[in-house]
Amino acid sequence: MNRKYRKTVIAGNWKMNMLASEIKPFMEELKANLPKARTCEMVLCVPGVMVPAMVKAGKDCKVAAGGEDVSCFEKGAYTGEVSASQLADVGAKYCIVGHSERRQYHGEDDMLVNAKARALLDKGIMPIICVGESLEQRESNLTMEYVAYQVKAALSGIDASQLRRCVIAYEPIWAIGTGKTATAEQAQEVCEGIRAVIRGIYGARPARAVSILYGGSMNAKNAYELLAQPDIDGGLIGGASLKPVDFATIIKATDQG
Ligand code: PEP
Repeated sequence: MNRKYRKTVIAGNWKMNMLASEIKPFMEELKANLPKARTCEMVLCVPGVMVPAMVKAGKDCKVAAGGEDVSCFEKGAYTGEVSASQLADVGAKYCIVGHSERRQYHGEDDMLVNAKARALLDKGIMPIICVGESLEQRESNLTMEYVAYQVKAALSGIDASQLRRCVIAYEPIWAIGTGKTATAEQAQEVCEGIRAVIRGIYGARPARAVSILYGGSMNAKNAYELLAQPDIDGGLIGGASLKPVDFATIIKATDQG
């Protein structure tokens, strides 16, 4: 982390877990375990239908609500889709785009991820743009080449003032939900590489200011070491964000002096 230049973000991704009725007890337990001093921005991304309940319950301990996906279209005959304006209207501040599960199960490609990020920016929602390599790509030494391609594609047409409202999440696919975490060195290396790619597009200042998160089996035990890396500005957390005590421990790990 480097709090001098950028904000630290700890974002949970609940995926298709939990019920709206479980949010209040979750937040009460989270609040009881949170540190008094705030050293990061806290976000919980939930299914669209649960965003209003998260907005309401999150107010008390300043947890921002986020969506997990958004339509790339503004409005119209797109049955089942949720638009950026609809997310903004119910109070979402962030939204994940390009999660590997969307790419894998819903065939989302880089162009669509870019369109979704831009749709969110247009409505004042901060996109959390996910990128990351497969195990095969890592083993073939293609990690940085592939991740650089994803970052450039996702940011296409996004200008420097909009970049300030984007968060990038490096999530190696082989580490998501597997209990296999990238080592702090591996995660740092790719996050540093992502910042270099951004520097190449936008210049030094915007690159220095963009928050880059690590995601992939981050938990209460490994968070401190991952967050100690200079280019890792927070975490996108799946499984551990479903447990209030573990999520609070990860939040506490952002307090590194
Ligand atoms: C995720 O889904 O974004 C994620 C990082 O999941 P987990 O923490 O469970 O690996």
